[in-house]
Amino acid sequence: MIVAIDGPAGSGKSTTAKGVAEKLGYLYLDTGAMYRAATAAVLAASIDSDDELAVSDCVETIEIDFDETGRLIFLNGEDVSQTIRGQEVTQNVSTVSAYPQVRKRMVFMQRGIAGHRDSVVEGRDIGTVVFPDADFKFFIVASIEERAERRQKDLAGLGVDQTVNDIVEDLKRRDALDSSRDVSPLTKSEDALEVDTTSMNIKQQIDLIVRHVRDRSARKETQAIGE
Ligand code: C5P
Repeated sequence: MIVAIDGPAGSGKSTTAKGVAEKLGYLYLDTGAMYRAATAAVLAASIDSDDELAVSDCVETIEIDFDETGRLIFLNGEDVSQTIRGQEVTQNVSTVSAYPQVRKRMVFMQRGIAGHRDSVVEGRDIGTVVFPDADFKFFIVASIEERAERRQKDLAGLGVDQTVNDIVEDLKRRDALDSSRDVSPLTKSEDALEVDTTSMNIKQQIDLIVRHVRDRSARKETQAIGE
């Protein structure tokens, strides 16, 4: 069973996906963290993120692993869970993740991690490219102001102080890059259910998705028994 959760930065998809995975007892896979870890590797090797060939070669050699909760991420065995949330990685990740070779390697890894287990997978292209046959697809959206305020709180928790205006500009820049790239741009899969979380709290977002998955799964089982 694959539950695909896509959407732009700050839409609430990470918190929602973590909560849904916990409630359903599924594996949680944060593919954004993988693109961030790849970017951290590029920066650590002092490679210019505009150098597509060097970036692609570097990403080809890295190993990415998660702990069993899916919340800690390891790059070549080193815990980079904090580093990947930093400003330098955030500023470069959309450039790195637009390169076809980088995406090819990440998608291969993502299918290897989540392809054989019940999983909740979150990202930008899960329902469209990574798992186009996912059992459930959700596309999470929220107003840009709400997204910026949520991100500001997340950053404050990490000890980073940024104004809402600066965050709005960063989100707009990343949305534009993520949505306009040639390879697997951020886009809603036709068969995804859109969930606007602007005026929802975390519990409501999680409950809505869990209820939907449980109801549909139960209906499928009833149908199978009746066949
Ligand atoms: O989800 P998060 O904001 O951590 O993702 C960081 C970046 O990784 C995104 O802005 C996007 O450029 C890239 N990404 C992607 N495809 C995914 C997940 C993330 O291109 N499936």
